[in-house]
Amino acid sequence: MAEQHLATADRDAAFPVDALDAMRAEGLLGLVVPRAHNGMGGTLRDVVDAGLALGRCDMSIALIFTMHCQQAAAVVEFAAGPLRSRLLPVLGEGRHYLASVSTESGKGGHVYSARAALREEGADLVVDRFAPVVTGGEQADGFLITMKNAQATTDRDVALVYAAREQLLAEPAGDWQPMGMRATRSAPLKLTGTVPAHQILAPGVPFRTIADRVLVPYAHLGWSAAWLGAAAGALSRVLHLIRSPQGRKRFDVGSELLLTRLSRARQRLDAVHAQLRHTLRTVETTPDLTAPSAQLLLNGLKLSASEQCRAAVDDLIDAVGLQHGYLKDSPTRLEQTLRDLRSAALNYHNDRLHLADGRLTLLDREVRLV
Ligand SMILES: Cc1cc2nc3c(=O)[nH]c(=O)nc-3n(C[C@H](O)[C@H](O)[C@H](O)COP(=O)(O)OP(=O)(O)OC[C@H]3O[C@@H](n4cnc5c(N)ncnc54)[C@H](O)[C@@H]3O)c2cc1C
Repeated sequence: MAEQHLATADRDAAFPVDALDAMRAEGLLGLVVPRAHNGMGGTLRDVVDAGLALGRCDMSIALIFTMHCQQAAAVVEFAAGPLRSRLLPVLGEGRHYLASVSTESGKGGHVYSARAALREEGADLVVDRFAPVVTGGEQADGFLITMKNAQATTDRDVALVYAAREQLLAEPAGDWQPMGMRATRSAPLKLTGTVPAHQILAPGVPFRTIADRVLVPYAHLGWSAAWLGAAAGALSRVLHLIRSPQGRKRFDVGSELLLTRLSRARQRLDAVHAQLRHTLRTVETTPDLTAPSAQLLLNGLKLSASEQCRAAVDDLIDAVGLQHGYLKDSPTRLEQTLRDLRSAALNYHNDRLHLADGRLTLLDREVRLV
């Protein structure tokens, strides 16, 4: 039943509305909101564990959920004044899905800059923003949008502004027909509307601080958990197949080639898991995440997870061959998992991270390994 549902969502590039409704019904969307604001009082560690568990079943749902938690955590940490007192209880109830609007035409995925600027209109701010990739944008109850501050003189003067769905006209601006991650339905939107000026998160706090303290750690740890969950789920399905009565007839578990390929896949996943847990512990215990060694660790996790989880699934396709590795209707779902994992290197492009890491490496001459 669940597999049929997943296949349909993948085929039609349809957002998993039922899964989102189930999360709303359980209050799960309030996971990282403190109990004092009606939330579940969860932590980044809970988001990582949820990403791993959801990823085993469906990487799109895992990404939708971990990215929502990333946005919610930014609100918890940085929203102030009337925005804080109004939005946190709403988020805490766990029914409000927050979409992320960061990518922009021209600057691509670069997180620390923005091109379109907010415009002041009395005490309000005018939002006029094309958003080329918005996961679940059609279903979102609110948006966290990066834009240039109204008085900005450089692209680096970025504001993170909250807008409720009813404050904006969110017009569909294109289709979503990707290779994988089809159920995220990250279609383009044109967002226009007006919000009170107090809906800027933490005015006066540099956007870089919000990114370094919350957005980047939640992104890299949450995404990596979703990818690792997806690859671990794929390995598990392959092992169930091989060890089933039908699989025992088909596969020779004494084959050295098969054993070596299974070993490689498992080794990759255990290495990413160790890196994920180590990076999580470091983030939990390091007050200042701007040190090169901490940033290298976070970026390195994203690079390794995106490369190794995909490579593990590639190993598995070789291990089980055409019927169960390459055809859509195999219960291993390797075909879809590989397509989904192909997005990982592009979701904040690995090229961009390698350049940043090259510069950070130059700054740490003593090579302080955290
Ligand atoms: C499944 C999925 C869901 C997503 N959901 C959202 C969402 O909800 N909200 C959102 O805002 N975004 C979302 N994104 C977008 C994502 O976060 C990235 O911003 C986006 O994939 C990057 O777009 P890009 O490849 O056009 O641009 P870039 O990453 O900017 O790269 C374009 C090309 O230019 C090269 N390049 C550009 N700059 C550099 C540089 N400095 N160094 C080296 N190479 C460079 C890269 O190699 C790349 O080939 C999603 C992406 C995916 C895959």
